[in-house]
Amino acid sequence: MSTPALDPRADWDQIYVDGEWRDAASGETIPVENPAKQEAFTEVPAGTEADVDAAYEAAEAAQSDWAATPRAERNEIVQNLLDELNAHVEEITGLLATEAGTPGYRAMGEFATTTGDVEMALELEPPEEEVRPSPSVEGKDNHIVHEPVGVVGVISPWNFPLHLTMRAVAPAIALGNTVVLKPATDTPITGGLLIAKLCEAAGLPDGVLNVVTGRGSDIGDRIAGHPTPRVVSFTGSTAVGKGVAEQAGASLALPALELGGNAPFIVTDEADLEKAARAGAFGSFFHQGQVCISINRHLVHEDLYDEYVDLLVEHAESLTIGDPSENDDVTFGPVQNETQRDDLVDFIEGSLEAGATLETGGEANGLFVEPTVLSDCTNDMPTACNEHFGPVAPVIPFSDDEEAIELANDTEYGLSASVFCEDAERARDLADRVEAGMVHINDQPINEDHNAPFGGVKQSGLGRYHGEWITRELTEPKWISVQDEERDYFVFE
Ligand code: NAP
Repeated sequence: MSTPALDPRADWDQIYVDGEWRDAASGETIPVENPAKQEAFTEVPAGTEADVDAAYEAAEAAQSDWAATPRAERNEIVQNLLDELNAHVEEITGLLATEAGTPGYRAMGEFATTTGDVEMALELEPPEEEVRPSPSVEGKDNHIVHEPVGVVGVISPWNFPLHLTMRAVAPAIALGNTVVLKPATDTPITGGLLIAKLCEAAGLPDGVLNVVTGRGSDIGDRIAGHPTPRVVSFTGSTAVGKGVAEQAGASLALPALELGGNAPFIVTDEADLEKAARAGAFGSFFHQGQVCISINRHLVHEDLYDEYVDLLVEHAESLTIGDPSENDDVTFGPVQNETQRDDLVDFIEGSLEAGATLETGGEANGLFVEPTVLSDCTNDMPTACNEHFGPVAPVIPFSDDEEAIELANDTEYGLSASVFCEDAERARDLADRVEAGMVHINDQPINEDHNAPFGGVKQSGLGRYHGEWITRELTEPKWISVQDEERDYFVFE
């Protein structure tokens, strides 16, 4: 088994199709930048629709052999993938720092969640074959078996590129499917080409994983709307996800969608204030707020409001800002790109114009947006009603639980949420009433466990990751009936 070269400056200028590294049909490349420096460190292929077609052709050709490969043999290869990941922890976390502006502690966290994705994939089991006597026909047995769905298209985002790609790819492969993957253009290595190198080194047969880099605007429709995949797994924004669902639906592929969020963080008058403020700061500023389940709005009881804002400011100002690719002690890095930064600056300015008070932060320097706390906020201000996806903490007061729930649910999204309250019954009542796929009591909303369903309601998506939930999406039940006794067809002798 070869050891892949994972240096950030290594050649990443070929796509991976049918077990081969090849140039994109366009012959063109796209630079990949380190966001802290705003400088390109390498380039990747600008894939075309012809490359996507070739990738789907390879995935389709490899599918039946891979599905027929005994599970133990498939698992040996998935175990090799896990070993490859573990053998390259330093290079991989280094790549995350360089490509995604990921501080060291967070890169280690993403790495651990990613190895957890692969460990979980090793354990996934479709339900065992079951035999049920027919309730309507004498002498017939109904066998129910579960088969891989076939080919899966995966489109992933840049914010947790390695983990959010692996949590779709590893289960798909372990369950006997083949994959065509398009990573985000900001993170084509850790979200795509790196995974191809590791799978190649793990001995994955040709065509089981195919990776085509390229801009969503050029090849996204082809990835989502191609007639081959049975499932299109998309993680990204709600706006793009709706288009992906339309494309996939047109060829009757199931869209599995993990979309945007606007997590409310409810701090009741029965919260432990210091714990809540520490959790609140983590939930807003972890990975510069670029997490779909980051706190988007702090909803704080009016009795604790002023003290809570002061503590949040203290935490925001204690972060160590810098380039994670140069300094392991950095706890706060850059945002991913200029669009992100410009949107954030607009959201902050719009909220200030609408009457918010700037408590700390508010400035951008290069792609570094200061950790920002805004008080005197209302739910309709730009930082609150939009998914701001950055290091901004708008704090909104409320006076009772009814108002807290009304504010929390006044959003099109329903991904994650959390409630701080020492009274367990009241906390649970609030958690039950928040419209979200995931609610965390006495914690902030950034949580992911492989034994719990991950996903959202409302405009935050369709379907769930992990365990039996992802197994259901990536396998299909098949009914095979066996007529053991001659059947009476009534009209014929
Ligand atoms: P995005 O702009 O929607 O992009 C996501 C992916 O879609 C990228 O690979 C992108 O490619 C691709 N894409 C763009 N246009 C496309 C098209 N027309 N057809 C098909 N694919 C297309 O989202 P993002 O900015 O990368 O990520 C941030 C968003 O993702 C936030 O809304 C966040 O909440 C959400 N998110 C959700 C979860 C979850 O689990 N629910 C997790 C993480 C992030 P290019 O990069 O080439 O444009």
